[in-house]
Amino acid sequence: HPSIVFDNVVFGYDPGRTILHGLSFEVPAGSRVAIVGPSGAGKSTIGRLLFRFYDPLAGRILIDGQDISGVTQASLRAAIGIVPQDSVLFNDTIGYNIAYGREGADAAAVEEAARGAAIADFIARLPQGLDTEVGERGLKLSGGEKQRVAIARTLVKNPPILLFDEATSALDTRTEQDILHTLRAVAANRTTLSIAHRLSTIADSDVILVLDQGRLAEQGSHADLLRAG
Ligand code: ADP
Ligand code: ADP
Repeated sequence: HPSIVFDNVVFGYDPGRTILHGLSFEVPAGSRVAIVGPSGAGKSTIGRLLFRFYDPLAGRILIDGQDISGVTQASLRAAIGIVPQDSVLFNDTIGYNIAYGREGADAAAVEEAARGAAIADFIARLPQGLDTEVGERGLKLSGGEKQRVAIARTLVKNPPILLFDEATSALDTRTEQDILHTLRAVAANRTTLSIAHRLSTIADSDVILVLDQGRLAEQGSHADLLRAG
């Protein structure tokens, strides 16, 4: 499993307005790290830098020890599976949506894969909580069901790194608890970075980093942070 390292990363979108002020942290290989902080702290910016939508102004980002400034966006997309807040599904079958996760933009390949045994097998072997009716259509699903399909669509690529970007923020509390349970199961032993604005949704991470205005304010386990108030 690859590790993720942010080494003194400085970034801003606009000249004269720094968003990340020399941010350093590590997600050790196979561990689960969460970044929590108020809106505007710079959390989503971290995800955008990981996919190289932008590059740091100073400092380095390393994946598996390699500076990603020399890595293509396509390779990064292959290595990092993202579960975003509002997953958009195709109004097609669940099989099609999951096949899309593996085949990408080639519609003919997706059609073929959706009918093939590999996708059906993959769905049959998903952890409990991700079992879905292959033939059901995406747009008829509830928010929680859609999120389950989105998780499966991400997992079908077997990405060594997972990025949960407010993955449960749009769900009601009950559904959120169900999906968190599922995310725990799929994240086991993978390098996982979770981004959230509420501490309760990332409580079981190995380390929680509190980001405030582009700087690390605190870090520790959930229990450490509760003790610190
Ligand atoms: P968070 O995810 O913690 O809410 P963001 O990373 O989205 O924070 O944003 C951090 C700061 O960067 C905010 O002040 C936001 O207004 C600013 N910002 C985000 N995206 C852009 C952009 N594309 N152009 C300029 N400023 C941006
Ligand atoms: P693929 O690139 O294989 O089609 P997806 O269908 O999962 O993968 O598309 C999601 C892609 O869109 C991610 O790989 C990433 O590049 C980008 N993306 C989507 N949401 C976000 C987000 N919240 N933050 C950063 N990147 C995102």
